[in-house]
Amino acid sequence: MRILVTGCAGFIGSHLVDKLLERGYEVIGRDCFMDYYHREIKEKNIENALKNNNFKLIEEDIMNMDNFPEVNHVFHLAAQAGVRASWGKSFEIYTRNNIEAIQKLLEFYKDRKIKKFVYASSSSVYGDAELPMKEDSLLKPVSPYGVTKLAAENLCYLYWKNYGVPTVSLRYFTVYGPRQRPDMAIHKFVKAILNGDEITVFGDGTQTRDFTFIDDVVEANILAANSEIEGEVFNVGGGSRISVNKLIELLEKITEKNAKIKYIEKQKGDVRDTLADTSKISNELNWKPKVKIKEGLKRFVEWYKSLYKHI
Ligand code: NAD
Repeated sequence: MRILVTGCAGFIGSHLVDKLLERGYEVIGRDCFMDYYHREIKEKNIENALKNNNFKLIEEDIMNMDNFPEVNHVFHLAAQAGVRASWGKSFEIYTRNNIEAIQKLLEFYKDRKIKKFVYASSSSVYGDAELPMKEDSLLKPVSPYGVTKLAAENLCYLYWKNYGVPTVSLRYFTVYGPRQRPDMAIHKFVKAILNGDEITVFGDGTQTRDFTFIDDVVEANILAANSEIEGEVFNVGGGSRISVNKLIELLEKITEKNAKIKYIEKQKGDVRDTLADTSKISNELNWKPKVKIKEGLKRFVEWYKSLYKHI
């Protein structure tokens, strides 16, 4: 079984690669090491995978290639992530990497017999939809990033509908755990608390997020790839919905340090709350989140400390 993972050096992609290699699959990873955050972090993410003979890394931008490997499954995770940076001139980076790149892949694989094309979508497609967010809720993204993730979902649907590409889109809800991107809240908060620096909270901290542990997201990907289901969308939400203030409180307990918090105005593009209805993925893919927020945060802090041993 040969598998392509795009975005293989990133936070989620690298975990997926590790799990697929652990299960004995042959994995081809593609990543262009975008400079959104440090290359060294991504190199560290795939350090173990690179030691495995079943892993081959192709360092290349999807947009610069017309040929992709012959594989049985595709997991498309490459994207320009991050909600807040998606305004203004940088929107070009988002349309290029989040919309044009997937269209290239779908065009290529439409003429090949692949078993599944799993796309990493996002809860950002919902915007401020009513809670809990359901797959058939009205989709009104409130950030340019969300617009691009939704456009890519629509491309998945139309290549399935017109060409029979067996796509499945998974809408991840705020993923966290070891290797979380350095621009994401939990990573930034833990770093600040351990260094005695100030945490900046956008808004009053009462906004909530449904946090999803990385291992649960990886499992959802594998279940989707192995299922017979095509042309569908599933929520992947950890069921650990807490406010930003509560999150900081938990991190203070785990690190046994007090946080210094500065509240500033809410950022454009941030949704107020997220909460996934996961009945569809539970019924159809038999997926349930296993890691609760306190346990997941502990694992993140342990990882962070092991990475920065001086703390
Ligand atoms: P990440 O930035 O750590 O990983 C994405 C990787 O894709 C990066 O290593 C980047 O270099 C690569 N990449 C981007 N454009 C590329 C291109 N054109 N060609 C080749 N490689 C390219 O991000 P992540 O947090 O691991 O997110 C992975 C996916 O999950 C993304 O599609 C993201 O939109 C989605 N997602 C993430 C979250 C989350 O909470 N982290 C939530 C919802 C959805």
